[in-house]
Amino acid sequence: MKPEVNIIWFRRDLRLTDNAALYHALKGELPVVPVFVFDTNILNELPAEDKRVTFIYQALEEMQQQLLEFGSSMEVYYDTPEGMFTALLTKYSVAHVFTNHDYEQYAIDRDAAIKELLKKQNAILHTYKDQVIFERSEVVKDDGTPYTVFTPYSRKWKAKLTEFYLSSYPSKKYYKQFYQQNPYGLPSLESMGFEQVEISFPAKQVKNALLEHYKDTRDFPGVKGTSHLGIHLRFGTISIRELARKAQGKSEVFLNELIWRDFYHMILAQFAHVRTGESFRQEYDRIPWRNNEKEFERWCNGQTGYPIVDAGMRELNTTGFMHNRVRMITASFLTKHLLIDWRWGEAYFAEKLLDYDYAANNGGWQWAAGSGCDAAPYFRVFNPTLQTERFDKDRSYIKKWVPELEGFEYPAPMVVHEDARKRALDTYGRVLKNN
Ligand code: FAD
Repeated sequence: MKPEVNIIWFRRDLRLTDNAALYHALKGELPVVPVFVFDTNILNELPAEDKRVTFIYQALEEMQQQLLEFGSSMEVYYDTPEGMFTALLTKYSVAHVFTNHDYEQYAIDRDAAIKELLKKQNAILHTYKDQVIFERSEVVKDDGTPYTVFTPYSRKWKAKLTEFYLSSYPSKKYYKQFYQQNPYGLPSLESMGFEQVEISFPAKQVKNALLEHYKDTRDFPGVKGTSHLGIHLRFGTISIRELARKAQGKSEVFLNELIWRDFYHMILAQFAHVRTGESFRQEYDRIPWRNNEKEFERWCNGQTGYPIVDAGMRELNTTGFMHNRVRMITASFLTKHLLIDWRWGEAYFAEKLLDYDYAANNGGWQWAAGSGCDAAPYFRVFNPTLQTERFDKDRSYIKKWVPELEGFEYPAPMVVHEDARKRALDTYGRVLKNN
């Protein structure tokens, strides 16, 4: 007889506390088997030294350690999701599978396929909102249509917020429901084709002191004025509810950034063409991008001759992080000064950012390119020199990443700002003047 169980399938929610799907799984009648799959469909696309795989690995090790204390163990597969569930259905008699929503196209297709696969064995897939405060159509205009501009969305978001939406799921009380079994080992990183990367990841918490000065420091890349929690939010090693609760009353500005995160997830969920890589404003797909590969390479390598742009790209290449202000400047430079398709930059960031998240990255890139959700038209072209004057006046950020600026080795600017600006406005204008 196969053991009768329910399953909790972890994906981008790598924690045992305040986890919606886990809570619902543990409240059920049957013992709960925790599972995770290193999805070969995704892993095969990543370079061996990808730091995010090490991050996920460490998070799973931590969860495994906690599960051991309750006599349970996570089963970690290196397979396709279909492969994992085929193996699980052979081993167990599965009644219900619990998991949290994921709004990306690959995930939507994956979950639909798994739902069908489970159905054939009379098992039911249950999914929950977990990674955002409000999802899909929970915050919409009065006529029921989605917001496409942030400010009115955020107003409605705040008006709808009650304690209920921020309260934690008390999973801890039900840990005895975990299926009791001998410890499982994780497949080694090497066996999956990855290297163990020596890196210390950002702390999993935000200090009150940071929240207190956040509004004054968040825009200055030369100081540590932001939380660096992006990677934890991406993989769910912290709960968005706990974080939003902490921000509430302490920093309205920080809470606002979390609302931006909800906003871009809502856009992804509501607009299918964004999930498949088209411009949010589809007329922008008519822009004749120059797409010069040599220029793209200079941008990637931080060799544009604009110190603030180069500092940002070098910070990204070295650490996997780039300050938000500088993300905006580098993205504007690529799309406007060099007239390179925002998707090239989006893909480069996707490869390098530790906190890479399709919704926020796509949203950020389209905002910079003018094709996305922004009340302002495409006329905004960031002037890297003026941005430096405003946000890195003492050049502390630039000096850190572009030390040769003091010597003679530094390249001349690859475009003249005023000429590039004019070229961008002409090019955009020709395509968009009738819109
Ligand atoms: P903090 O300032 O401490 O903010 C706290 C959290 O709020 C962040 O971790 C993030 O989850 C959320 N947040 C903050 N700003 C934004 C924003 N504008 N949009 C959505 N969420 C936000 N953010 C990502 O999480 N992943 C990405 O891949 C990503 N790509 C971007 C690409 C471009 C071109 C731009 C302009 C922005 C991008 N952002 C992305 C948004 C933002 O730059 C990062 O969230 C932020 O810099 C992460 O640093 P932090 O954790 O210290 O942020």
